[in-house]
Amino acid sequence: MVHQQSIHCPHCESIDLVKNGKSENGTQRWHCNECKKHFRLDYRYNACRKGVKEKIIEMTLNSSGVRDIGRVLSISKDTVTAVLKKNAKNEPLLSHKRRNVQDGKAGG
Ligand SMILES: [Zn+2]
Repeated sequence: MVHQQSIHCPHCESIDLVKNGKSENGTQRWHCNECKKHFRLDYRYNACRKGVKEKIIEMTLNSSGVRDIGRVLSISKDTVTAVLKKNAKNEPLLSHKRRNVQDGKAGG
């Protein structure tokens, strides 16, 4: 069991959080002391985790489809699309898609 999780509020990014019971599905619910909002962590939260975004982009560069990426990373297709859209704005990485990737060995 990992007790120290780096969970932060999706609304204000505060880490001043209190557990607030569980939902019917068994999802942990949280209450934020900072903005007084409630939220819960479901599988969609995965997309916010560090590394997932990079994985999505990497898989895109390996010409994996949005659906495949979602299945592999257990996130929804919409989440993948959202990340890609967001990323396209921030970094012009996707426009360099045709660039040769020398290190083509993907783990897995
Ligand atoms: Zn908050």
